[in-house]
Amino acid sequence: MHEQLVAEAYEKRRAGLVQELGLMDDDSSQEAYDRIARLAKRIFGTKIVLITFIDTDRQWFKSHLGTDMTENPRDQTFCTHTIEQNKTLVVEDAATDPRFSAHPLVLGEPRIRFYAGEPLLTHDGHPVGTLCLVDHRPKRFSQDDQDTLRDLADLVMTQVRVDRDLTYRDAATKMPNRIQFFADLKDTSRLHDAETQWVVVIELIGLQESNEAVRALGLGYLYDQIAHAVSILRSGLGSRTIYHVGPTHLAFCLDGESDALSILDVLSSELRKPFATSSGIPAKLAPGCGARKMTNAELSSPDILRTLLQAAREARDDHRGVALYDPVADAAQKRSYSLALELPRALAENELFLVYQPRVDARTGLCSGAEALLRWKHPTLGVVFPGQFLPLITKTPLIRDVTDWVLRSLCKQIAEWNAANLAVHCSFNISARNLEEVDFVDRLAAAITETGVTSAQIEIELVEDVSVIGDEKVLARLHAVRDLGVVIAIDDFGSGYSNLAYLLQLPAKVLKLDRSIIAGILTKPTYATAVASIIAMGHQLGYRIVAEGVETDEIKDRLADWGCDELQGYLFSKPLEVTAFEDWARRFSAEISSRP
Ligand code: C2E
Ligand code: CA
Repeated sequence: MHEQLVAEAYEKRRAGLVQELGLMDDDSSQEAYDRIARLAKRIFGTKIVLITFIDTDRQWFKSHLGTDMTENPRDQTFCTHTIEQNKTLVVEDAATDPRFSAHPLVLGEPRIRFYAGEPLLTHDGHPVGTLCLVDHRPKRFSQDDQDTLRDLADLVMTQVRVDRDLTYRDAATKMPNRIQFFADLKDTSRLHDAETQWVVVIELIGLQESNEAVRALGLGYLYDQIAHAVSILRSGLGSRTIYHVGPTHLAFCLDGESDALSILDVLSSELRKPFATSSGIPAKLAPGCGARKMTNAELSSPDILRTLLQAAREARDDHRGVALYDPVADAAQKRSYSLALELPRALAENELFLVYQPRVDARTGLCSGAEALLRWKHPTLGVVFPGQFLPLITKTPLIRDVTDWVLRSLCKQIAEWNAANLAVHCSFNISARNLEEVDFVDRLAAAITETGVTSAQIEIELVEDVSVIGDEKVLARLHAVRDLGVVIAIDDFGSGYSNLAYLLQLPAKVLKLDRSIIAGILTKPTYATAVASIIAMGHQLGYRIVAEGVETDEIKDRLADWGCDELQGYLFSKPLEVTAFEDWARRFSAEISSRP
């Protein structure tokens, strides 16, 4: 009884290895295996040579010389005996061998008389298949022959290991890769459904930073950083497998019961400490750890890595560097992805439209212009706001088409208003990426000429963006925009970090103060001081100052006292569709100017 249990456990482990190694029905490196089979045929001269792998119920032929068969039910094969006894099996004449003389493969087709099978052994001695020789005539098989057959079987397993390394290991770091990661998660998912695991992905450095570092310091610098991170993780995680799942991404699992957040906090702070690389140049990682607790059953879901990469990226913006997978953020991300896929249709079928938010002169109270803002009348979702799709679009070349559409629609609209005696100065938003387009200025100039608007009626709002800072071509393009007579505004000023030296080089005329700082001027004295000083300093530098997000009279009055030039916000109006804006612009200007 005990022996049977041991045998069953052994067979389970053995079949598990066959599965783990992905041996069954795999056609990779076919020629390499066939070459070994041909070599065996030449050496031993048998009719049939097979390289086979065997799982619980099937023997599959990786290489089959001398027969067209590609597989057998496991219980009918000689090879089953070879792997069960786990040593060379030689049957010199099956007809006279009492163990096999009545075997169906001896009495019937393919009428086996000679068989020699050598188990294919993994490192730890488990037989996953056989290299075997078969003939229809009896044959002597010496000890020397057996030794040669064993050498050839070793050669087969060397090939298996090479294939496995190519498939399941990262070529550079030799760590288990993302294919191994998925395979292991799938294995775990077959265990008890209800049990849970934490799955963690760490992004060690952002892709852009790592690319820059590689360009400047070579790949060795990057691998040093990965090796350093791995050694920290190993000392914190013990024997847990660490996977290299992306260029700068490591992954591992923790028990569902463990206090993952505390563990990750410790690891994250260790990873953030500066260290010396082999090049002598010190390095410092800026890791983000994304974690998700999942039941075993969920582990086989195909989007695990995507959701964790997203959490890891978000974590990099968090001061702790740790973030849990957030299904709400994920749903928003998925929605913005599917909207991005639909955008070309929206452009083609005219589903986009512009709304106009009035800008007001802080001294006279008159409408001084408008900011054009994008909207999408989606056939099923209703009106979609730019925040739901533009951040993703901005990272793709589609932003060019979007900005073109906005520019052309805006110019047409201004031309119509000009014709109707409503000369409005309008700003619109572009993405920093647009400035990387070599023909950006030409397209801007063409839109202006073709619609006959005055270039000074157009203002470009530009958010300061690290990716273009310092780019000489971008700077030259902005100067060309200014030379056309188009106004340049720095948008969301005060929301990010501002690189003053760079800002001073930009040919901008307008600073738009971000609504996040405007909202705080009544409650936070430091904000009030900052805004008052920015207005004063901005004026000295020759900027016109516009405040966004003005929602109350008190804020309006305070900004007017400080000399802010223009105001924009819900206090005056929300963004309006064309006719509503026309009414507003005419009425609001008239109402104020006709006051006593
Ligand atoms: P933004 O340039 O900062 O635009 C101002 C945003 O603040 C608008 O949101 C506007 O509706 C909102 N807003 C205006 N007044 C107030 C206020 O008093 N309080 C509050 N809480 N919010 C106010 P919207 O239209 O959803 O636009 C969001 C962002 O999308 C814009 O931020 C801009 O960065 C981008 N965007 C909009 N249209 C375009 C476009 O045509 N092209 C590009 N590249 N980006 C655009
Ligand atoms: Ca804006």
